Amino acid sequence: MHPLLAADLERLPDLLEDARRHAVAFLEGLDERPVVPLARTPAAVPLPARGDGLSAALRGFAERWEPGLSAGAGPRYLGFVTGGVTPAALAGDWLTSTVDQNPMSSLDPAGQLLERETVGWLRELFGLSDGHEGNFVSGATMSNTVGLAIAREWLGERLGVSPAEDGAAALGPVRVLSGSPHSSVAKTLSMLGLGRSALVPVATLPGREAVDPAALERALREGAGPCVVVANAGTVNTVDFDDVRALVALREKYGFWLHVDAAFGAFAALSPAHAHLVDGVDAADSLCVDLHKWLNVPYDSAVQFTRRRDLQARVFQNAAAYLGPLGDTPEAVHLTPENSRRLRALTAWLTLRAYGRDGYREIVERCAACAHTMGEAVAAHPGLRLLAPVRLNVVCFTLAENPTADRLAALAREMSDTAFLTPTVYAGRPALRAAFSNWRTTADDTERVIKALTAAVDALPGGAPAS
Ligand SMILES: *Cc1c(COP(=O)(O)O)cnc(C)c1O
Repeated sequence: MHPLLAADLERLPDLLEDARRHAVAFLEGLDERPVVPLARTPAAVPLPARGDGLSAALRGFAERWEPGLSAGAGPRYLGFVTGGVTPAALAGDWLTSTVDQNPMSSLDPAGQLLERETVGWLRELFGLSDGHEGNFVSGATMSNTVGLAIAREWLGERLGVSPAEDGAAALGPVRVLSGSPHSSVAKTLSMLGLGRSALVPVATLPGREAVDPAALERALREGAGPCVVVANAGTVNTVDFDDVRALVALREKYGFWLHVDAAFGAFAALSPAHAHLVDGVDAADSLCVDLHKWLNVPYDSAVQFTRRRDLQARVFQNAAAYLGPLGDTPEAVHLTPENSRRLRALTAWLTLRAYGRDGYREIVERCAACAHTMGEAVAAHPGLRLLAPVRLNVVCFTLAENPTADRLAALAREMSDTAFLTPTVYAGRPALRAAFSNWRTTADDTERVIKALTAAVDALPGGAPAS
């Protein structure tokens, strides 16, 4: 063994203690750290020919890279849709690397069984019936990819061909209809050989991002052949929800594959005041839910549900002499793009075991309350304009006067020590979004964000009109 490895092995408990202390210091500094420290990243250096062990490597990381890291795990990182990491999820992630399992085969079954138990818990959490089978993947983009890969095979079934065997070209042109699909859906269609141009935009309801069911019905009637509908349960701009029940009624009539992207919207099911938003999602043929957002587990984790695991295994089967047969309960290796992978389920299992449905209900309701508070503050500020009602956990707004992308970027920069907000364009207008999905965010944090936003608006050159 290399002497540096042997030395680290000998001191492993002490070294892990150092790493633990380091982690605790980082977490304790989250509140003070600039939320996005701009321009603190060092230049790249060459690979060291000779190392100097873990202690020195940890110091090197602390000196060169750590100062530039954002407080992405903290309570005021409100960009994109970003979760943090609960205490149990953090411990779970450490343990995942510690036990280093590859949960793909029943020849070594425990990891795979833990994963199945966790999927069952998630199904209950989101109010799904046991018609849905589920698997862990690395994020909602992969969950959408797996769901739409199953959809592709379903289209083949309807046409008497198998894209998994014969290639996507066997299908001929395919239509994927959606109102306000997430950008990852186009990427997915590119990866699946269906092509970005397969995505057919359908009109949304007036002033909304939710699809107009009447427009969808017209599109279904106009086109020939089976198609796929991607329903959106929680759009990133304004957290709007398609009326999934109406889409299910259309499916009765027109027979399409219904994929629901509920990356973070699925968590509405946990809050009685918001659960109606996800009525009907259980009827989806495939369903995408991110876990590294509102479940507050670390990257990278999502779950993918479907009612047609037989088609899923047709797409992802990995026949090899040393792996189990497909059978009625296919091994995990036959169900997702990865073969080997980490035991992602363990972090989700630990955090669900630690906090239960009640704990997650509290997180969802607190985040929604924070978003509502900020939405009210934005609506009341003469220099700002709320662009959509706060339906769940995102505030989408712009400047009342001269709302250019440049001025909004300046506004976001001005407040970036306190909070991180990301830009968007909504209904043709440049805007900013604040998304609340971190378990650490409190009412106090929200007040700090509102204060910083107000000060930033006042500081903007040519800024707020006198009120
Ligand atoms: C975040 C998100 C995605 C993509 O998720 P990743 O985890 O970044 O791959 C897809 N759809 C929706 C609605 C999202 O919010």
